[in-house]
Amino acid sequence: MPDKPFPWYCTRCKKATIEPSKQRYEFTQKHDGRTQQIVIDAIPIPTCTNCGYQTFDQSTLAVITEETYKQLGLLTPAEIRQNREVLYLKQQEMQDALGLGGNSLSRWETGHVYQSRALDRFLRVFFASGEARRILKNEDRTDVEDVEQVCLVKRCFSHIPRSLSCQRVTFRSDRFATAYEGN
Ligand SMILES: [Zn+2]
Repeated sequence: MPDKPFPWYCTRCKKATIEPSKQRYEFTQKHDGRTQQIVIDAIPIPTCTNCGYQTFDQSTLAVITEETYKQLGLLTPAEIRQNREVLYLKQQEMQDALGLGGNSLSRWETGHVYQSRALDRFLRVFFASGEARRILKNEDRTDVEDVEQVCLVKRCFSHIPRSLSCQRVTFRSDRFATAYEGN
């Protein structure tokens, strides 16, 4: 209840003694195999003047979340979503372009999980570079069903032996070239 006027009722000492307060807040955050110290100098934490009980309301938690992303050096969930929307991409389209599995992008954009450092850098390149996005689009892999669709429509792949029209055929739309990977 961030809009409720102070003082708030303290559930620990049963008095109306919680007042606004700005404090230094420090904690360790594990991310991507490392442990990092997060330090926030002046964060609003409503605190009981009688017993010291701290109240973490929604606005406090929002500041902690935002600062944690910044200090870990990661794009925030809002930054990821805004950058995607600037490119007029749906979540699924961007997932496909990046080759992400499951609902990774959705989980990053809602802040359910932190993206790894490597994928954070990948996101930054994707957002910043039209060339990177073009490369990723052209390198899209198609599965057998897609290739067979191409066969029917354009007859480009009619020479693929049935025994080889297996799991992994790379299709380059720019040159109509195919490559067989493995057996
Ligand atoms: Zn108290």
